[in-house]
Amino acid sequence: MTRDAFASSSSPAPTRALATEAVHAGRDDLAELGLHAPPLDLSTTYPSSDARAEAARIDEFATTGARPDGPPIYARLDNPTTARFETALARLEGAEAAVAFASGMAALSAVLLARASQGLRHVVAVRPLYGCSDHLLDAGLLGTEVTWTDPAGVADALRPDTGLVMVESPANPTLAEADIRALAHACGSVPLLVDNTFATPVLQRPVELGARIVLHSATKYLGGHGDVMGGVVACDEEFARTLRQVRFATGGVLHPLAGDLLLRGLSTLPVRVRAASATAAELVRRLAADPRVERVHYPRIGGAMISFEVLGDPHDVIAGVRLITPAVSLGSVDSLIQHPASISHRIVDPSDRRSGGIGDRLLRMSVGLEDVEDLWRDLDEALSAGSAATAPRRAAAEPVRA
Ligand SMILES: *Cc1c(COP(=O)(O)O)cnc(C)c1O
Repeated sequence: MTRDAFASSSSPAPTRALATEAVHAGRDDLAELGLHAPPLDLSTTYPSSDARAEAARIDEFATTGARPDGPPIYARLDNPTTARFETALARLEGAEAAVAFASGMAALSAVLLARASQGLRHVVAVRPLYGCSDHLLDAGLLGTEVTWTDPAGVADALRPDTGLVMVESPANPTLAEADIRALAHACGSVPLLVDNTFATPVLQRPVELGARIVLHSATKYLGGHGDVMGGVVACDEEFARTLRQVRFATGGVLHPLAGDLLLRGLSTLPVRVRAASATAAELVRRLAADPRVERVHYPRIGGAMISFEVLGDPHDVIAGVRLITPAVSLGSVDSLIQHPASISHRIVDPSDRRSGGIGDRLLRMSVGLEDVEDLWRDLDEALSAGSAATAPRRAAAEPVRA
């Protein structure tokens, strides 16, 4: 991340580099408050003796969706701790605003409901998407209708009632990349939503490339420690206002403790993503040269997610890891590995899974902050467990310590 790249954003006058924003954004008033750490406000309600003033503020929120001035009235409208996280994430994404939700799926649901409430129920989406996003769209659970296409087919798939074009880049779990700038162009006046969970704003800021809506499962890299569930949408203030109204009416709010942990997570995001990405790139280099591995997927923009197809049984690899955690999810300080066809994308119809490039021998690994040699030794042994019948065991790499 260079200062120039950040400064070229069309967002409100960014003057500080990403690494600086990561530790300072959303905290601008702390010195004035005489505080160093952001305060955690757990209030569900806020006292006021002036019911007339409260009525006016409620009317104002109901008509505009703007964040209320002063105390939030009730915790489903707004929360000062969560608002700090929203401000910081918006700054990192180069967006005007951000609205946080209880999970990534709650965030996506709110976007779909917001568009549907404007009569725009049709969604154009590019596979693969995260399994549950695919399911939410494909099952039409929120009354939306989806047309699946590849990036080249987006322009032709648009209809007068298309409210959204959705893509993940790099995509979960194949790490397929889309040309976001070209896609945004193909969308015309229809907003392009980019799920930026895998890249994070450290590696890619879709708003600068023409996306109107950026979605995160904050559960992953933004939180970064596997102990907080959340979602967030970065967008312009106009759409943020609609999202706040949807959040108020449907209740998918982020708990303030989660907001506090997410703000804290953002402060180390650039360091974590860069360090884990360097380790991931080295593991990719070794996996690509390994005879037990058929194919390795790694995006051009880099990152800490890798996926690879094994020649042997992927279940044996999952059963064989000792250091790496065999679990779904990603973006934590410790490394995780999972089998998308069994877990993260199980809910997707098998034929749709295959057409989206999610093969039965594909494994997805989220590279954490462990030492690269320790990770390689674990992978090496697990791969041998998974390929005993199909390939000769390769000598383990000599441990080298930094
Ligand atoms: C995990 C994930 C989601 C869903 O987020 P939750 O926080 O689990 O609801 C959405 N998109 C991507 C790319 C994900 O990895």
